[in-house]
Amino acid sequence: MRVYLHSLGCRLNWSEIEAMARRLATAGHAVVDEPSQADVCIVNTCAVTAEAERKTRHAVRALHRANPRARIAVVGCAATLAPETFAQFPGVAWVVPNEGKETFVERFVGMEGSEEAGKRGRLRTRAFVKAQDGCDNHCTYCIVRILRGPGRSRPLEEVLAEVQERTTEGYQEVVLTGVNLGSYGRDLGMERGLHRLVEAVLTHTDVPRLRLSSVEPWDLDEEFFRLWENPRLCRQLHLPLQAGCDATLRRMGRPITTARYAALVETAHAAIPDLALTTDMMVGFPGEDEAAFAESLAFVERMGFARLHVFPFSPRPGTPAARLPDQVPVAVRRERAHRMREVGKRLAETYQQQFVGREMGVLWEHRRDDGLWYGLTDNYLRVVTSFGERLTGRIVRTRLVALHSGLFVGEVVE
Ligand code: SF4
Repeated sequence: MRVYLHSLGCRLNWSEIEAMARRLATAGHAVVDEPSQADVCIVNTCAVTAEAERKTRHAVRALHRANPRARIAVVGCAATLAPETFAQFPGVAWVVPNEGKETFVERFVGMEGSEEAGKRGRLRTRAFVKAQDGCDNHCTYCIVRILRGPGRSRPLEEVLAEVQERTTEGYQEVVLTGVNLGSYGRDLGMERGLHRLVEAVLTHTDVPRLRLSSVEPWDLDEEFFRLWENPRLCRQLHLPLQAGCDATLRRMGRPITTARYAALVETAHAAIPDLALTTDMMVGFPGEDEAAFAESLAFVERMGFARLHVFPFSPRPGTPAARLPDQVPVAVRRERAHRMREVGKRLAETYQQQFVGREMGVLWEHRRDDGLWYGLTDNYLRVVTSFGERLTGRIVRTRLVALHSGLFVGEVVE
């Protein structure tokens, strides 16, 4: 069977689709690059916002247009939220909610591969390894915890084994993912579980680079940042803030204050030179007036983030925030998102400028149709270069000679 895989949304979704790719390859199926080549298309979907759901619907329709013969499996968060909707889409043969996702490959695609057995089981130069799923927090706007259920951690030995396996396969970077990675180990009775997990990965595996996906700030203590004494840990940390105003944070049900967040950020910067601190911001939350939004903007400026992901609030079915009074008009939400993104662009440029002329290790990912290689530094700077030899999957010292619209031009120096 030839299978095309597509993932939307978070890094956790990516880690799941990569796990599917490996299971398919082991079972003797071929993972193909284009939907037009596939017998089955699997889409791992996202429903975190109304916009994410819209993109999911669009992706499913586009797959059917690209290959009307292929049977489509819609799996994951959007499939859990609106199974009936997707069941009616042309080409959709299966709608699989989150709890059936793990066994989907075996149950539906079968274990008998074709003559193209095991053609390709990996999708990227970076491997995404799932350490945890679900969430026990109560952010009032969040549908993810409803869709993904309570927090569950994979046993530490299992995560270590998978990281080592990916490393042995040649991956140069592993990204640890989870819906709520910071809570890792709590359900297993571990204290400071994420700290122990990261320490164990750095000690017991040879992975050249380890990156953490999003971690909620209240799950971290100052000690955590000492982990970065090990240079294999990527100097990028995504700490979702969502609002830079305490009253809004309280209504969001997020157990943190701006003062605590700022203190963590200060410690993080002191411990990790060149740290790329990135965040998510939700604007137009119910009850956010112009003064509260201005407070948020000012706080974001003060934190000097390297990158912002900005979402206008969208009420999700079944969440407390959808029923809160003082909903902000859609046009105002959009306008605030625009203003917040403008600040984000400026901050990103300020962060990036300091690296022009510096020499950094770049993990080169792929050569695009333009003939150029594209790669990433450990602190998430995007770099492009022209080079005669194959660079894919290698970490190479590279001088960042110029910066154009968020993309560095690099010269390979070794
Ligand atoms: S921490 Fe909050 S926003 Fe994140 S998944 Fe849990 S409830 Fe949702």
